[in-house]
Amino acid sequence: MELLRPSRLEELDGGLPIHGGTEVVPLLRDGILQAETLVDVRGIVPRGVRGSTIGAGTTLAELEVDTQIPGALREACRLAASPQLRNMGSIGGNLLQSTRCWYWRLKYPCRLHGGDRCHAREGEHREHAIFANDYCASAHPSDVAAALLALGATVRTSRRELPLEALYRLPDEANRDLVTLAEGELILELELPAVEASVYLKAMDRRRWAFPQVGVAAARSRGEIRLALAGVAPIPWLLTGPDALDSATPLPRTAWKVDVARALVRRALERV
Ligand SMILES: Cc1cc2nc3c(=O)[nH]c(=O)nc-3n(C[C@H](O)[C@H](O)[C@H](O)COP(=O)(O)OP(=O)(O)OC[C@H]3O[C@@H](n4cnc5c(N)ncnc54)[C@H](O)[C@@H]3O)c2cc1C
Ligand code: SF4
Repeated sequence: MELLRPSRLEELDGGLPIHGGTEVVPLLRDGILQAETLVDVRGIVPRGVRGSTIGAGTTLAELEVDTQIPGALREACRLAASPQLRNMGSIGGNLLQSTRCWYWRLKYPCRLHGGDRCHAREGEHREHAIFANDYCASAHPSDVAAALLALGATVRTSRRELPLEALYRLPDEANRDLVTLAEGELILELELPAVEASVYLKAMDRRRWAFPQVGVAAARSRGEIRLALAGVAPIPWLLTGPDALDSATPLPRTAWKVDVARALVRRALERV
């Protein structure tokens, strides 16, 4: 395997991007990802916070202590993973992490691997989705994406600018991808609009270093509150309001997540 270290965007010519490697390396080791060429993008992707702009190479550890950024994002970073992972993991890589669905990680030939079944829907799915879970019932694992979604973040890539919600898509028979990035397109920066108050609350199966069972982000801006959830749908999920939880479609063993989401949404609204 070849490792390239370009220092300018123009030098990019294919290969699998790697930043902190906390996601790429285990997936390569487990044979879920294959690559002839890895492209270390640390020389290209901006790192650090300038006002409302966050370089996609900024680590979660740097963000959790940065007082320039809204509370919801700081808290989402602080509650994610372990200190070692937060020191290595970039915010850009976090947004593009793969599902933690155990069937997918164990290489079952499920729909996201190109097969014709969702093994979780029929099998073990206690940690899975309560929205948009018909085709694939995976639950998006990024705390950070939910916080950015509530905050109304914009993404700047090497080719375009888009609202964060447009970075994600639900998979279907024609296209199993969960993100809309083209091959070779890099996330460079995130832009945050000003908010008056924001919060991120997270339910985990232990008190630290666990993925969100349900994460709820709320942000208030000009009197309006945006809510976004982690761990409830195959992609980060915008919630139009607390009543939208009534339209959840839980699987037989994920109904408990609706109750947890309801409690966290109530608390988050009180806090902002
Ligand atoms: C044990 C464990 C626990 C975790 N717990 C949590 C948790 O509780 N909450 C949470 O939110 N996250 C959690 N994570 C995810 C973790 O935060 C991410 O793995 C990390 O942020 C990824 O960043 P990275 O720089 O290491 O990405 P990499 O592994 O380098 O890359 C990840 C993906 O992004 C692509 N990529 C990287 N940078 C770019 C870029 N700039 N443009 C385009 N593509 C890019 C890579 O090709 C790859 O597909 C956990 C991870 C592990 C391993
Ligand atoms: S939930 Fe998605 S990733 Fe998991 S088995 Fe079903 S199709 Fe595959």
